[in-house]
Amino acid sequence: MSSAFKLFRLQQVDSQLDQVRSRLAEIGRLLADDEVVKQAQAALQEAQTAMEAAQKELVRAEEEVKSLQAKLKENQDTLYGGKVRNPKELQDLQLEAESLTRHLRSLEDTQLEKMVALEERQSAVRDTAEALEGTRAQRAVEHRALGSEQNKLASEAERLEEERSADLSSIAKEELKIYEGLRTTKGGLAVAKVQNKTCGACGAELSASLAQAARSPSELARCDNCKRILYAG
Ligand SMILES: [Zn+2]
Repeated sequence: MSSAFKLFRLQQVDSQLDQVRSRLAEIGRLLADDEVVKQAQAALQEAQTAMEAAQKELVRAEEEVKSLQAKLKENQDTLYGGKVRNPKELQDLQLEAESLTRHLRSLEDTQLEKMVALEERQSAVRDTAEALEGTRAQRAVEHRALGSEQNKLASEAERLEEERSADLSSIAKEELKIYEGLRTTKGGLAVAKVQNKTCGACGAELSASLAQAARSPSELARCDNCKRILYAG
């Protein structure tokens, strides 16, 4: 087994580990991210606040109607009570009754509007509460799926790490150092496969002697351009 082949195998394991770890990190972020639930909660809270405000407005409108009804009753009691006989006073009371009645109609219209507004707010609360419940249920399904993927990936990572340790035992320290250095500086890819006499990583054409060197069982050949370790396959 050539040095380049051992490193190539190590590279394959490390690339898989990189993928598994990156997905695990992403899953961690997804599990921690409760933004959609928070937004749905905020929407419900907003709808509830609006409904409470509408309730208060309706109560106020009802009180105004009651108060005016009481005034009108007082006016009618005086008007038809028989104690007032002066025609001027009676006429004033009659005019007051008309004015109060007009005002009462207007307040009753307002009361009706407030009732309709409250019903709309109540319906909005029901809708947003339902949306929150739906969001939570969906999150629960997602969490279960992510949790199960997380478990699978964790055992996959464990298996790859064992494989990696086994591979490491047969690799020379100096070569491993070069490999690790390249992994750090070359975006995780230290070993490039030779494809049609070119470097499989950067695409540079290899000289005949370099292509030949890449087949050496003991020496490590490096791409002239990207400096990665070449594996002839
Ligand atoms: Zn290259």
